[in-house]
Amino acid sequence: MSTFNNLNLSAEIMSAINKLGFEEATPIQEKTIPPALAGHDVIGQAPTGTGKTISFAIPIVERISAEANKPQALVITPTRELAIQVGEEINKVAQFKGVHALPIYGGQDINRQIRALKKNPQIIVGTPGRIMDHLRRSTIRFHNLKIVVLDEADEMLNMGFLEDIETILQAAPSQRQTLLFSATMPKQIVALANKFMNNPAMVKIAPKAMTVDNTEQYYIEIPHGKKFDTLCNLLDMHAPTSAIVFGRTKRGVDEVTEALTKRGYSAEGLHGDLTQARRDSVMRQFRSGATEILVATDVAARGLDIDSVTHVYNFDIPQDPESYVHRIGRTGRAGRTGLAITLITPRELSQLKFIERLTKKKIQRLSAPTLTEAREGAQQVAIERLIATIEEQTANSYRGLAESLLEHHDSVTLLAAAIKLLTKEPNTTPVNITEERPKPQTRKNQTKRPRSNSLKKRKRRK
Ligand code: ADP
Ligand code: MG
Repeated sequence: MSTFNNLNLSAEIMSAINKLGFEEATPIQEKTIPPALAGHDVIGQAPTGTGKTISFAIPIVERISAEANKPQALVITPTRELAIQVGEEINKVAQFKGVHALPIYGGQDINRQIRALKKNPQIIVGTPGRIMDHLRRSTIRFHNLKIVVLDEADEMLNMGFLEDIETILQAAPSQRQTLLFSATMPKQIVALANKFMNNPAMVKIAPKAMTVDNTEQYYIEIPHGKKFDTLCNLLDMHAPTSAIVFGRTKRGVDEVTEALTKRGYSAEGLHGDLTQARRDSVMRQFRSGATEILVATDVAARGLDIDSVTHVYNFDIPQDPESYVHRIGRTGRAGRTGLAITLITPRELSQLKFIERLTKKKIQRLSAPTLTEAREGAQQVAIERLIATIEEQTANSYRGLAESLLEHHDSVTLLAAAIKLLTKEPNTTPVNITEERPKPQTRKNQTKRPRSNSLKKRKRRK
């Protein structure tokens, strides 16, 4: 059962959360949403990527009404990109509530914004300068404002917005609720909070240092649209008999599973929406080797005891370093070879560096395998399968057949045909995988696995 269920959220919000594919509330969400829903001022401090946006998006959407016009909530963000992004995320949360967020930021035609403001959005997300602009023109009025959020407060201070923020807070009704979110808490933020907040609840989620074992760790930087082909090329090259592909959301898992199946891979998906019976059967198939690739969300794979997994592919970068450690902990158990490859889009590089910093372990860069490399890899795997069959001496009963074939064809021709048949041809059926932004999710328990292994390039099929 999802920890979102414990937060007493409305059916509309729960539907939105479901649609977003979030399985569990992150720690900062779990701890800040209840006091914020109760109307308290809240200070939330948590590292980047841990889901602070949803921490205020949910209380805002729950606490404002669809009928009343004039802005009821104001979110102040440091940059225009964040204003847009946060506005989008709030609108996703609000999709079934009949309320709407409008981003306003410098650089966009102010008259266009004024027209949009006339439509009375209940929520405004903006950069300090542009909010001040509208305040001066009286194109935004604050008298109905119930909630003010300072998002990424440390960033705003770094960018020199302190004065603007103070002006805005002074102009807001004193009866309002104030929420402040930040990755760090420099003194000026504490001072700002003391001055403008009313007995705030303080929530701090500390970044944790962690260790990862010696599983070989790589990453590939690639645009989202190429991720799936890259995954397929890697699977063809490595031909793992037991691999987990991690996706971020239930929907993502379904999409990747379906696309892999379409291309002829033996894959099954695992996530929280499946019935217990279905999950059990997926796991049984995977453990027995009938399914080679398990596509799973973090939550679904948590606590699963699977020790035959040799390859972990992070189709999406994990939400935080702890999830990363958990995912990687799936490989290389019991003295086996472990290999982990994380696919990231260029803008996720900083998240990867953050994981590296906290795990104190370098993740090596790899370039995406080309189709040719994938094909060569697949051929290599075919040859290894042939050789393994020779070593196992399991083909003796075919010798007569081979001898009669040799009367009509030379051995090289025959062997070439056999290799061709054994080689999994890279399949390039076009597929469509929806892009999602990275999600955070912090895990409490930490894994420790004793073992060290070296990378074995190509896994042999038995
Ligand atoms: P922060 O502001 O703490 O840096 P964000 O709010 O930008 O982090 O969240 C980062 C990503 O995590 C976003 O893509 C967001 O959609 C996703 N996310 C937020 N909450 C959850 C959750 N409970 N489960 C999964 N993903 C989440
Ligand atoms: Mg944020």
